[in-house]
Amino acid sequence: MEKKTFVTKEQLKEIIKEYPTPFHLYDEKGIRENAKALKEAFSWNKGFREYFAVKATPNPFILKILQEYGFGCDCSSETELMLADALGFQGPDIMFSSNATPAREYKLAYDLGAVINLDDITHIDFLEKTTGIPKTICCRYNPGGTFTISTDIMDNPGEAKYGFTTEQLFEGFRILKEKGVENFGIHAFLASNTVTNEYYPALAKVLFETAVKLKQETGANITFINLSGGIGIPYRPDQEPNDIRVIGEKVREVYEQTLVPAGMGDVALYTELGRYMLGPYGCLVTTAIHEKHTHKEYIGCDACAVNLMRPAMYGAYHHITVMGKENMPCDHKYDVTGSLCENNDKFAVDRMLPKIDMGDLLVIHDTGAHGYSMGYNYNGKLRSAEILLKEDGSTQLIRRAETPEDYFATFDCFDILSNMKYR
Ligand SMILES: *Cc1c(COP(=O)(O)O)cnc(C)c1O
Repeated sequence: MEKKTFVTKEQLKEIIKEYPTPFHLYDEKGIRENAKALKEAFSWNKGFREYFAVKATPNPFILKILQEYGFGCDCSSETELMLADALGFQGPDIMFSSNATPAREYKLAYDLGAVINLDDITHIDFLEKTTGIPKTICCRYNPGGTFTISTDIMDNPGEAKYGFTTEQLFEGFRILKEKGVENFGIHAFLASNTVTNEYYPALAKVLFETAVKLKQETGANITFINLSGGIGIPYRPDQEPNDIRVIGEKVREVYEQTLVPAGMGDVALYTELGRYMLGPYGCLVTTAIHEKHTHKEYIGCDACAVNLMRPAMYGAYHHITVMGKENMPCDHKYDVTGSLCENNDKFAVDRMLPKIDMGDLLVIHDTGAHGYSMGYNYNGKLRSAEILLKEDGSTQLIRRAETPEDYFATFDCFDILSNMKYR
């Protein structure tokens, strides 16, 4: 599929009059349409709820939009819990899926009444000593081995640090039941960024069959099953996007084959999608500021890996559009780089693009999830702004860019700015 930007060059020209590049831009219209489509795809399940994975895009304005659709949030840390609380997510609106969890984070999750998703059997004791055991709890399952759909290996749960083994899960349920838990959930995240309609149905089969056995063998009252994240997006133009209606329908078939005959037709399904909810509805806008002709052809941008870490970290592909040159031939081969003192600071390597001129605006696609949020400050680089492109075409600054004051703010013992000679 041809990858199109959700913003035009003319719109960007207006936006950069007010906000200098680089910045992340989000598409409110796309976010809303996608949220509606997810809800509809699972509307057959009475208790269905999406708990948006806050870590993907931890911005209050984005979370507020998703809250309008009845979504909860999935938090994994103290500050994410604080953010959820401040936005009015209450008690069971919050899922707390964490691992190697510090006591104070469990304490906050417990005090907020969040649904705690335990990562390990030893956390049962840890939680009991820290806060006591809540009446509703979830356990994260990791069956080990490889996760395979037909003959394709999707991922390696056996190498993943998360979750209970099968034996531990049954043992954990028995222990938790003795300790007074009344409502149980199970959760698993077995493959990431899956661009196939088969992932959720295959995962659902594993979880539903396990839930039936758990109920039969431990007598636990299982009230929800959490399919977690993992539905992916087509970062590459040659990938076929997932069809959420097909996914919802195939999960329904597995539900009716597995849970309904076991008398579990009232179990609620939860999802914790991050990438699928936001990924395509954000982009990183940057300006080409240098060209360099050495052993290769380089384009230097005003954004760098601190604004988008995925290419450097995973070698991930992010599509690039040179604004205004959408219909020109891609007859130049470039490495598109940032300015970090790290040779992996490249948004693209050997990418065929139209001829880039200095001052051209580049749109780096699909940065709406795990983009800004994975940012960091290496080389003293500052985090960019985040801007919302609203449905009416106007813009709203939803997070300002960092300033040197922000960067130096944690040196309580030494005031860099007032000691500077040059100011
Ligand atoms: C990261 C994460 C998610 C979201 O994953 P996506 O790939 O963005 O859908 C959901 N649940 C948990 C527990 C996670 O760690």
